[in-house]
Amino acid sequence: MEAKNIKINIPSAATDLINKLYDAGYEAFIVGGCVRDSLLGRLPGDFDITTNAEPEEVKRLFKKTVDTGIRHGTVTVIESGEPYEVTTYRIDGEYADSRHPVSVSYTKNLRDDLARRDFTVNAMAYNDRVGLVDAFSGIDDLEHGILRAVGEARLRFTEDALRILRCIRFSSVLGFGIEKSTADALRELAPGLLKVSAERIYSEWKKLLGGKNAYYVIEEYRDVISIFLPELSDVSLPDRDSFDKLSVENRQLCMFASIGLEGFENASHRLKMESKTRTKGASVLKNLIYSPNPSDNELKRYLVDNGDEISLDGAEISAAVGITDKQTYLRMLSLVSSPIPRKISDLSIGGRELMAMGVRGEGIGKLLYALLLEVAQGNIRNDTDELLLRAQELL
Ligand code: ATP
Ligand code: MG
Repeated sequence: MEAKNIKINIPSAATDLINKLYDAGYEAFIVGGCVRDSLLGRLPGDFDITTNAEPEEVKRLFKKTVDTGIRHGTVTVIESGEPYEVTTYRIDGEYADSRHPVSVSYTKNLRDDLARRDFTVNAMAYNDRVGLVDAFSGIDDLEHGILRAVGEARLRFTEDALRILRCIRFSSVLGFGIEKSTADALRELAPGLLKVSAERIYSEWKKLLGGKNAYYVIEEYRDVISIFLPELSDVSLPDRDSFDKLSVENRQLCMFASIGLEGFENASHRLKMESKTRTKGASVLKNLIYSPNPSDNELKRYLVDNGDEISLDGAEISAAVGITDKQTYLRMLSLVSSPIPRKISDLSIGGRELMAMGVRGEGIGKLLYALLLEVAQGNIRNDTDELLLRAQELL
């Protein structure tokens, strides 16, 4: 269970923190995702620490601490300016609501703490004194790229349904396969996800969408995803190459392209997506390019009407799902990087000049738009005299 020969580089502040706990007579290890990521050669997001010292003892030992999750045994220690979550070895009690243990109790045994963790690859601890503590053969699963529940998968997914989504998220992000009994259990128990909060679902879903293996996981586990995104149950994905190139937001939008605006708005509301994602997503979906091979003038009008960001995303998604040609996106890219005027403020004249000509109210905006379109499409030059002349003609 312990491997002395494995060495992980721990930030020096975390090493100091661990040493202080040992000096006071306790044990301490880095644990979970940071051990997994370090062994995979990935940069860990944060280094979590597990210890047999209880929170009050941790607080006594360190000058700067914050009670971030004291009810679950977690204290954040600020060591050399860096925050570390230090959690007491813990056993989770009964789970009441498919998500939260009713009670947690402390234990002096590291193995018990590792046993409450979700997957074997997330259930390893390490420090420089002891080496790797791997009570559930996480290192073997890591080497083979396998996600396997710690203990009985059905029980673990029943206790906390979020683990179902974490499992397919890790499969997407790490490119790991899911061991059969774990995969069977997560499919069977996927309806439990309905009890998980929208915020947690959406945060995992975004990570899943951004994973290198997202395409495969979305295809393979569509039944699981459909529990929280029923809109997407029958959607077909674009070809993998096009999908893989898209940003997280555009991967999501390309799945909604065939569903339409209403489906997206329902889903984004239900999952409490950020307002920027919602409004931008709605604009893109309202303005997909359905023409297979739009003319230059059509593309320029689209750019004037929608601005750079929506135009690029709209063209990229439309091309990915095949409602416009792949070239359309490349043409839009070169339009956006060209200096052509596409905003009213790019014009050499403004409202003031038109008012001097006697134009009033809504007419000003309409006329400026008409002039801008002509300039963008190359019918007239962006030159004050030429614009004023053309304005006269249009009046
Ligand atoms: P990430 O790269 O997203 O941070 P992570 O594995 O570090 O992945 P965290 O949410 O930071 O995920 O959790 C840290 C550790 O806590 C996990 O590696 C795992 O050991 C344990 N853990 C987190 N969530 C759960 C859960 N729902 N059930 C059981 N163990 C969990
Ligand atoms: Mg983490």
